[in-house]
Amino acid sequence: MHVIYGGTFDPIHHGHLRLALEMADALQVERVDLMPCHIPPHRSGTGATSAQRLDMIRIAINGESRLGVDDRELQRGGASFTADTLLQLRRELGSEQPLVMVVGTDAFASFDRWQEWREIPGLAHIVVVRRPGADLPQGSPARCLLDERRAVRVSDLQQAPAGKILEFEAPLMDISATGIRQRIADGRSPRYLLPDPVLQRIHEQGLYGACPDRNF
Ligand code: ATP
Repeated sequence: MHVIYGGTFDPIHHGHLRLALEMADALQVERVDLMPCHIPPHRSGTGATSAQRLDMIRIAINGESRLGVDDRELQRGGASFTADTLLQLRRELGSEQPLVMVVGTDAFASFDRWQEWREIPGLAHIVVVRRPGADLPQGSPARCLLDERRAVRVSDLQQAPAGKILEFEAPLMDISATGIRQRIADGRSPRYLLPDPVLQRIHEQGLYGACPDRNF
């Protein structure tokens, strides 16, 4: 089973990292690949460049063999449409190997606005992770799709290459990149919400309005 976990990672934080490891355990895989997007289609710009976000991911996962990084969306350039990425991965993996995409409920709630979203279940399974403060309203397209394709257990994902959606309850960590960027911009410390080496890099490079000469 090949597992990818996409996002903007602007910057990567402990919510992402814990979730990725929880997924590796729950799905019983040797590795989960974090996949930063280049130009996120559904939001206006990023605080750090693609290269800086990738660099922070590499720093964060250094020494953790169960977490990897897949930078194909940065290499490809342009808007990062998930359907394009999954198609490319599906070609590489062949038609039989299960491919799993992990998303939070906040991202999945707008699934029906993703480019070519109807193609996605044919290419991969989706694991939807409950995120604090983000629900899927009854009757919403995302909720209906989930109900239609619901997987009951992890083995449902192992038995087919694509097409199932598993709702997953991970331990909740109410951390967001927005909250981290806001704290930095306000001159407050975001320490312990993200790895120290990542925070150090943010200060060195003056990202998100951080003061390079101020101690984190
Ligand atoms: P921002 O605040 O800038 O929107 P973010 O913290 O939501 O950023 P993203 O890079 O947008 O981070 O998230 C990537 C994926 O990780 C999304 O699917 C999102 O739902 C999920 N995610 C992010 N933070 C958490 C968290 N604390 N718990 C569970 N899922 C999370």
